[in-house]
Amino acid sequence: MAPQKTVGILGGGQLGRMLTHPAALLGIPLLILDSGSYTPAKQTLLPPENHSGHLDGPFTSESHIRELAKKCDILTVEIEHVNADVLEAVEKEGLCEVQPSPSTIRLIQDKYQQKKYLAGKGIPVAPFDELPLNPSEQDVKDVVGKLGLPVMLKAKTLAYDGRGNSPLQSTSSEDINKSLEFLGDRPLYAEGWAPFVKEVAVMVVRNKEGEVKSYDAVETIHRESILRVCLAPLRGERDLNHRARELAEKAVGHLQGAGIFGVEMFLMEDGSLLLNEIAPRPHNSGHHTIEACHTSQFENHLRAILSLPLGSTDLRVPSAAMVNILGSSSSMSPIEAMRDNALSVPGAAVHLYGKKESRKARKMGHITLTAQSDAELHSYLRTVLFAQPDAAD
Ligand code: ATP
Ligand code: MG
Ligand code: MG
Repeated sequence: MAPQKTVGILGGGQLGRMLTHPAALLGIPLLILDSGSYTPAKQTLLPPENHSGHLDGPFTSESHIRELAKKCDILTVEIEHVNADVLEAVEKEGLCEVQPSPSTIRLIQDKYQQKKYLAGKGIPVAPFDELPLNPSEQDVKDVVGKLGLPVMLKAKTLAYDGRGNSPLQSTSSEDINKSLEFLGDRPLYAEGWAPFVKEVAVMVVRNKEGEVKSYDAVETIHRESILRVCLAPLRGERDLNHRARELAEKAVGHLQGAGIFGVEMFLMEDGSLLLNEIAPRPHNSGHHTIEACHTSQFENHLRAILSLPLGSTDLRVPSAAMVNILGSSSSMSPIEAMRDNALSVPGAAVHLYGKKESRKARKMGHITLTAQSDAELHSYLRTVLFAQPDAAD
């Protein structure tokens, strides 16, 4: 057997935490770089001596990334907002392998560049246009002239959970200024509104040898730009699942490097699919794969970057769902209430991420439901959703 490689993860949040579980089962040593000594991912790593190898520091810090690289054979990410320049340098200097490729991470960090690149490769996307830095009211009106209303103003960088998005319904000074104020002084671009009937996601995994597998497409249900519920597999016309997987695999085919990728898409009224964005890492719309598929997105990510054979992406059950547990305030009680309520549901698996503080809309955990039919799944879903803190909204 080849000597076991040590994997370094930039980011120690819930995605890192869920990577530690299959790593432990497969005996893969993991080291985490993140600020704080007790982040969600650092909590789970056993044996305790592994803790000594973790680094406390920002995943954007050159010195910390270099220190991690010295201790590891391969670096990967659980978040794309890392320092791609340093990752590229570390790889070029032969200090450590990085997967997926730093060039892919850099491209994806800038949602405008990502969209331009994918559109240039013939991947269907919503119409979009750039905005100048610190755009004026007139700049926004000009872009609306091209893309129509409503329009989604988006931060190019450092966006997640919709926190860099502002939908604009009119070109009144009040609406424009409210949007610009919300987005702050970040570089922006605009996207034409995609009047989708459903949102869809596909997880795609590729190993270093170029073997590619995708998971069944899922329906993702967002509210205020945050994923709430994910249903697997995607229901719809006969070849929809296949078309979604095909588009996702094609898009990922234009990116360099190994690992798991989350591909978000919009299903339009006429049945066509538009690509929204790609995440170069495990993704919230693949959490159900832990219980619902033969090999989870997390295990397949590790397998992919370590040149191990990819595991089956097939569903083990006819129907599955994932419900996010989001904070509603600083209180932990609604989160605990959701957990306790889910424990009465057969087939429910509760994951709490070990975050010590709750905040409104913060991802605190999730619940996976598996069932033998859609009808059974929906009865479980009703029970679980009833206990959501904002169920009455
Ligand atoms: P993530 O947490 O997935 O990284 P993000 O902050 O990068 O999210 P997007 O994926 O760009 O944001 O958008 C979040 C959500 O906003 C989408 O899932 C969708 O519900 C809505 N949205 C985004 N772009 C558009 C669009 N062009 N038209 C209509 N709705 C959109
Ligand atoms: Mg995003
Ligand atoms: Mg998104």
